[in-house]
Amino acid sequence: MKTKRLLLGDEAFALGAINAGLSGAYAYPGTPSTEILEFVQKDPVARERGIHSHWSSNEKTAMEEALGMSFCGKRSMTSMKHVGLNVAADPFVNSAMTGANGGLLVVAADDPSMHSSQNEQDSRFYADFAMIPLLEPSSQQEAYDMAAYGFELSERLAIPVVVRFVTRLSHSRAVVECHDEPAPENSLHYPANPLQWVLMPAMSKRRNRQLIADQESFERASEESPFNKYIEGADHRVGIVASGVAFNYLMECFDGNPPFPVLKISQYPLPKKSLRRLYDSCDSLLVLEEGQPVIERQLRGVFDAGKKIYGKLSGDVVRDGELSPDAVRASILKVRPDVKGLSEGAIHGDSDVVVSRPPALCPGCGHRDVYAALNAALAEYESPKVFGDIGCYTLGFLKPFSAIDTCVDMGASITMAKGASDAGQFPAVAIIGDSTFTHSGMTGLLDAINEDTSMLVIISDNLTTGMTGGQDSQGTGKLEEICLGLGANPAHVRTIDSLPKNVEEMKQLFKEEIEHKGLSVVISRRECIQTARRHAGAKKA
Ligand code: SF4
Repeated sequence: MKTKRLLLGDEAFALGAINAGLSGAYAYPGTPSTEILEFVQKDPVARERGIHSHWSSNEKTAMEEALGMSFCGKRSMTSMKHVGLNVAADPFVNSAMTGANGGLLVVAADDPSMHSSQNEQDSRFYADFAMIPLLEPSSQQEAYDMAAYGFELSERLAIPVVVRFVTRLSHSRAVVECHDEPAPENSLHYPANPLQWVLMPAMSKRRNRQLIADQESFERASEESPFNKYIEGADHRVGIVASGVAFNYLMECFDGNPPFPVLKISQYPLPKKSLRRLYDSCDSLLVLEEGQPVIERQLRGVFDAGKKIYGKLSGDVVRDGELSPDAVRASILKVRPDVKGLSEGAIHGDSDVVVSRPPALCPGCGHRDVYAALNAALAEYESPKVFGDIGCYTLGFLKPFSAIDTCVDMGASITMAKGASDAGQFPAVAIIGDSTFTHSGMTGLLDAINEDTSMLVIISDNLTTGMTGGQDSQGTGKLEEICLGLGANPAHVRTIDSLPKNVEEMKQLFKEEIEHKGLSVVISRRECIQTARRHAGAKKA
């Protein structure tokens, strides 16, 4: 039996995975992928079945945990935002060498336009780099259907499969037709070739040759994929290659009936035969893809021998930020100004209704008091530098605090402060949240402990992962023990409640520890008021 549900793209994929016999989901929260694991955690079938779905310390550990479950023959997935794949890159690339036993899906959610990210990197490069297949849903229905398809593909080809989301698909809702009968989970069974999972040079060399040989079957799977479609069109002056959500925008521009031949791409490696067919039958090609010019670049290498290829590299499709129906419409008009049947563009300008609001720390947030105290403490120094990190507290960069000098990647506050201190910077201060600390800060702290670097590390502990909506933080209740366990000097691991009444005391504490010639850690603690409210509400209910 089938039912219809209104779901976010993230939720549709999570439900599709549960209904396809998922046994374990591993993730670190990050916009726009967070809702995938959240859905698994709340879904009644997943709970009843006991599907494993806890937050991991970071994307690398999540990837390795999912790989371990796949080794045991069960279907697993890991989900992360695009920059999380950088953190998971080591096990991710090596998972192409081990292959998969139980179906293994690696979901990377890209954020073109950088709504909540540091860059616009395109995860399709990673799949190409690791030489493994990638699926790119163009709708919520495809997101749902691709979970089961992806598990089957992963098991059939014995390789992890990447699923690439983008923000618009992750965070928009549509009606999705779902199966009511979840498939059974795989039983525990081990890889047919266990030696493939021991990546020592002799085994790896053999496996690498196999992976290269397997590329042919990966490409054949793309040619035969139900998600890659060739659509005939009468006007052969342009053939359009449209991938992922760009295909939807194209359909919207022509009310579902474009006059040109179209090749929809939702599975990689690229289906070269279908591309050749389009290229040979059209005078030119227009490439529409969300993110970076991944397809266009590959086409130019293969086909750029005479016929014009229009796309991001040629300047005919907008190169940065997200695509939209309007952007696609503008590109088509550039390439074929006389095109017929193009629908009217919607007005996507500034809204009179939605007033843009700059981001800010919530009123009453403990990070505010930390910054007030830190700024007061540092006012007495000539050239203090504060190395920031990724979380709500990054907003300390903005007015009224203007309190941090850098923000690069998860954990970089501590390591950059250490490098600066090594260079002679004084004072050198790192500020990092509790969740970011357990994600990627602990190893950097160990470096600083080992050299007793003169620097102050502030762990602003809000007892949650605040920025992504209040998921569990792995260090809650044990940050002091972690720091001491790593070897920090107990005399310089100090704790304070970051409350307005303690700002003066916090300032004095920061000053004392800045003056200490060695490493100091101050843990400033106050629960995120958003999660505190939720917890209070849950208690009342
Ligand atoms: S969500 Fe929580 S941690 Fe983030 S700014 Fe608001 S109160 Fe602070």
